[in-house]
Amino acid sequence: MLSSEPAKRDIRKLKLDELKKFFTDQGDKPFRAVQVDEWLWKKSAKSFDQMTNLSVATRDLLKQNFNINHIQVDTMQRSTDGTIKNAVKLHDGLIVESVLIPAEKRITACVSSQVGCSLACAFCATARLKRQRNLSADEIYDQVAAIKEQSETIFNRPLTNIVFMGMGEPLLNYSNVIAAIDKITSPKGLGMAMKRITVSTVGIAKMIIKMADDGVKFNLAVSLHAALDDTRSSIMPINDSNPLADLAEALKYWYQKTKRKVTYEYVVWQGVNDTPEHAQALLKFCKIIPSKVNLIEYNPIDEGGFKQASDAVLMMYMDLLEKNGITTRIRKSRGKDIDAACGQLANKS
Ligand code: SAH
Repeated sequence: MLSSEPAKRDIRKLKLDELKKFFTDQGDKPFRAVQVDEWLWKKSAKSFDQMTNLSVATRDLLKQNFNINHIQVDTMQRSTDGTIKNAVKLHDGLIVESVLIPAEKRITACVSSQVGCSLACAFCATARLKRQRNLSADEIYDQVAAIKEQSETIFNRPLTNIVFMGMGEPLLNYSNVIAAIDKITSPKGLGMAMKRITVSTVGIAKMIIKMADDGVKFNLAVSLHAALDDTRSSIMPINDSNPLADLAEALKYWYQKTKRKVTYEYVVWQGVNDTPEHAQALLKFCKIIPSKVNLIEYNPIDEGGFKQASDAVLMMYMDLLEKNGITTRIRKSRGKDIDAACGQLANKS
């Protein structure tokens, strides 16, 4: 038998004006929509029953017409270093992971932008999961809201930073990432500061140009890992269609428009990018626009394959870059024991 019930819509897909129209069509006041909007975003309500300043009749009306496709934190794992990894269940049953990283002066949320990833970087566990779909703006927003709540309830401290360094490539889900960031920074949403947000990309040149044109105000990080085309192509297939020269042009454009530094993420592996020639190439690339370098510790993802270079090689990189005025930090990984560190997000549990 066919159901006569109309399909319910995801209420957070409606703009405020559309929600106002819904209420006025029902003979109610447009202000009702403002109240609902506040519950949906600022208070991150997971059900209509939480909206206690609405009458029961209004809540029922909403229930009959809409769903709230809120994420659910399915499991939460805690590392010995305090890092928390959330396995987040989406309304269609798919899972992504997000991470809360506590440090002395900050608490950072690391969020996913896609289910799986299409980029196939050889060293990354997420690349082993094929890309299934983009996350919606509210699924991205919900990850941040959930971590903000954990930060406040578990650590008694505010969430300070957000990095788009979880699963997926944010610039291949650009419009939803931008819509999520709008809500995250809006006073009607989480009210976070743009300068506390970093979007990390494998380096898709045309999207970096688009971001510059759009005048975005968040920070940009590029997962570089090699500044020689042959080496980069051997570990990051994206480099074939998107070589370093194109990336360099896009970054120049980015700097010209935004006047903001870029951060390069870089892992040094034995036998891959551990020669002085590789370090020199990175230095040259760093001079294209003002930049800094994060030398990230490698987090092994399976047997063999990649191996982190020795400390001596890291120092060789560090010395060369610092001597030439490029701020360089060695980033220790966090949450390794629970597979929550960079490149380890793969829905293992
Ligand atoms: N797709 C985006 C967002 C992912 S960020 C991007 O590529 O930037 C995740 C970061 O962790 C990237 O810099 C990625 O290159 C790095 N990474 C991936 N696998 C890693 C591993 N096994 N160890 C350390 N870093 C890794």
